[in-house]
Amino acid sequence: MTLSDIFADRTERMTASEIRELLKLLDQPDIISFAGGIPDPALFPREAFADAFAHAMEDGAAGISLQYATSEGYTPLRDWIADHMASLGVTCSRDNILVTAGSQQALDYLGKIFLNKNDTALVGWPTYLGALGAFNAYEPRFDRLDPADNRASEDIASVAKEAGGRVKFAYVSPDFANPTGVTMRLEERRAVLERARSLDCAVIEDAAYQALRYDGKPIPPILALEMAETGDINACRTIYLGSFSKTLAPGLRVGWVVAAKPVIDRLVLTKQAADLQTATLNQIVVNEVARKVFDSHVGILRENYGARMHAMLDALAREMPDGVTWVEPEGGMFVWLTLPRGIDGKSLLKDALKANVAFVPGQAFYADGSNTNTLRLNFSMSGPSVINEGIARLAKVIRAAL
Ligand code: PMP
Repeated sequence: MTLSDIFADRTERMTASEIRELLKLLDQPDIISFAGGIPDPALFPREAFADAFAHAMEDGAAGISLQYATSEGYTPLRDWIADHMASLGVTCSRDNILVTAGSQQALDYLGKIFLNKNDTALVGWPTYLGALGAFNAYEPRFDRLDPADNRASEDIASVAKEAGGRVKFAYVSPDFANPTGVTMRLEERRAVLERARSLDCAVIEDAAYQALRYDGKPIPPILALEMAETGDINACRTIYLGSFSKTLAPGLRVGWVVAAKPVIDRLVLTKQAADLQTATLNQIVVNEVARKVFDSHVGILRENYGARMHAMLDALAREMPDGVTWVEPEGGMFVWLTLPRGIDGKSLLKDALKANVAFVPGQAFYADGSNTNTLRLNFSMSGPSVINEGIARLAKVIRAAL
């Protein structure tokens, strides 16, 4: 026997993707990578963080910032988050807020508190890979959530029942989703809420990119739409996940959940059992930085990332051959490309790496591994001239594959 013979069944779904292996080749020099999905480190608010860390280490402050704290999160930070949520149309108190180690932790905890084995999670097709990974550990079944889906809710529910559970939640990322960059229109947001009502399940609204809008007008979060109807956060089925990863810095691992009190209470117990609390020092520092520079810093990000997004869209329009289509995002970090049928994203990546350009094949983002003729391009990591050159290289590789 080896120890891997006695791993729990749930770990069988924890597999490293072959794409990860391919992307290891990214270390080669001169490569232009659109494969990442991370913020540009040159745009971190470094000075504001340096000041805040220094303040947190001062006499009197250090005794708090280096100490254990409550599982719910640092109170002044939860109050800042409550104000931020109010600006998005969600009135709530700090009691409806839990600070988490990034929104990734919230995805794991929500899987843990909602999913029995064989329960159904409704997810986008494609959807955020990290959400599939987080939920997978709880052995659910995935079904498709699609604005164009005209199946009756009774049919979705009865298939879920046959599979041995029930639909527990619909997971959506309404603004500039990862990987597609798609923004859900107001009617589509209302439709998700209606679907969840008719299935009597929760909505998990992942707002990781919400603040990064470069074009068009903001659309209210699903939780704000539900709040406008119920008038009471504690009567809402939508669970909102926020994050400082894309706006301030991901390395501190600070995110948050806003939800009805019973959901927060159960998540607090989960957090107590899992990691006690989010790092006190990081919460204190994020609180200071958010209070000082959040709005101005998001302005800087919008300007920079917006220019990069437009550079990529212009380059695609100029370079791509007929038959290649893409989503024009209004924000976020990604452009989603669809190739003519028959061209496989994974084999295209091998050719692309030879031509010194990289992307993530889209297949990994589908719960069933379908739609192999898609790919995700990231635009947050390179300036406009590098983007132009990278898209020209990619177009050449695609033309050769046609
Ligand atoms: N949701 C989405 C859609 C993401 O793209 C990411 C990060 N890539 C996360 C959640 C997790 O972010 P974090 O844990 O850093 O808040």
